[in-house]
Amino acid sequence: MNNTGEMLTVAEARKRILQGAEPLPSEKVTLADALQRVLARDLQAGLTLPPWDNSAMDGFAVRFADVAAACADAPVSLKLVETIAAGHMPVKTVEAGEAARIMTGAPVPQGADAIVPIEHTDGGTEDDVAILQSPRACGAHIRRMGEDVQAGQVILQAGTELTPARIAMAAAAGCGWLDVHARPRVAILATGDELVEPGQTPKPGQIVSSNSHSMVAMVQQAGGVPLYLGIARDEPEDLLARMQGGLHADVLLTSGGVSVGDFDYVKLVYERLGMRMDFWKVAMKPGKPLAFGHIDGVPVIGLPGNPIATAVGFEQFVRPLLRRMLGHTRLSRPVITARLVGGYRKRDQRLHFHRVLLQQDGNAWLARSAGGQGSAMLYSMARADGLAMIPQETSVLADGEAVQVQVLNTDVLGECHADE
Ligand code: AMP
Ligand code: MG
Repeated sequence: MNNTGEMLTVAEARKRILQGAEPLPSEKVTLADALQRVLARDLQAGLTLPPWDNSAMDGFAVRFADVAAACADAPVSLKLVETIAAGHMPVKTVEAGEAARIMTGAPVPQGADAIVPIEHTDGGTEDDVAILQSPRACGAHIRRMGEDVQAGQVILQAGTELTPARIAMAAAAGCGWLDVHARPRVAILATGDELVEPGQTPKPGQIVSSNSHSMVAMVQQAGGVPLYLGIARDEPEDLLARMQGGLHADVLLTSGGVSVGDFDYVKLVYERLGMRMDFWKVAMKPGKPLAFGHIDGVPVIGLPGNPIATAVGFEQFVRPLLRRMLGHTRLSRPVITARLVGGYRKRDQRLHFHRVLLQQDGNAWLARSAGGQGSAMLYSMARADGLAMIPQETSVLADGEAVQVQVLNTDVLGECHADE
């Protein structure tokens, strides 16, 4: 173990955790399972889009030369040769003096070179139609074959996160299966004699293991697959047995027991399992004791037990690691600049994460405390829109001074209107 107890900055600790991490190998998924996954290789269109010239309007396929002079005072009458519905190929060629009734999305027939919307006609009969307004130009309201995408073209590049729009693009281009990076499987272990499983009623001296749920949910939110290992007692044997069960995962995550208390056996057990301890202290608040290393090549992160320290540590270190494994290139939450209402004072040289509510004030953002900031106080974390970051070296921030805020609830950004 690194007994010198070197205390790293948050940035340095994150760098070390990400250093050895690679995107996981790829797997094939259907489009129904592709949302938020990351493409492992470039995706080429299997189909040309549109596959053929087609009508952008319900109306009439005409020869532009026939109707170039049409107007309400001098309508042009054309003979109707057929009706073309979407999903059906035209049978007839449109000759001079003729037109075909056509629906949106139906293929444009041979001979026709413009579409007249039905609103610019008398609506037509079974046999003919009067054109009351000429199309703007040859080609009007025709969606050209290949104007969107050509077969073989790279439509989505490796490293792209799959959004609904990109899944639609792949679907239209005939790509039903996608190569994406596998989801990291994250073994999750809570530790502590005082803990009972969520759903159980705590006896005197006991509390509910909220970290069990927060870690499972944070892993899911980050795109990983949680494997919950339960609660280990503060006994080396129980910790060892349960941790061993987690070493088949891609990441092992524990909460609690990494501090300097009498029953903090987690680091000891890591060592017994052969952990190369990289570091176990980070200059942050909440969450100074935070252990990182590898056991049999599996990254292991020992988060502190205080619920907010667990959550903040996860946000700073685990989420970026999981996103890296998923193939994402943007690993952190969005950060905005806000004015910190009420200012801030601190004595230590640690980076503080201060739970805040965000509110827009003209073109600026205001960040105000979300409530009590104790590292075990869940209420303010549950309300918080983000984490204001008070830099290590800062001891005083005046009321309204600028601060960087990591946004956890990105929906709040949607309230941003440049014209307000
Ligand atoms: P530890 O890091 O084990 O010393 O725990 C620090 C504090 O966090 C103690 O008050 C624990 O009771 C609390 N704690 C540890 N694990 C959990 C958990 N899974 N859920 C809620 N609180 C916890
Ligand atoms: Mg404990």
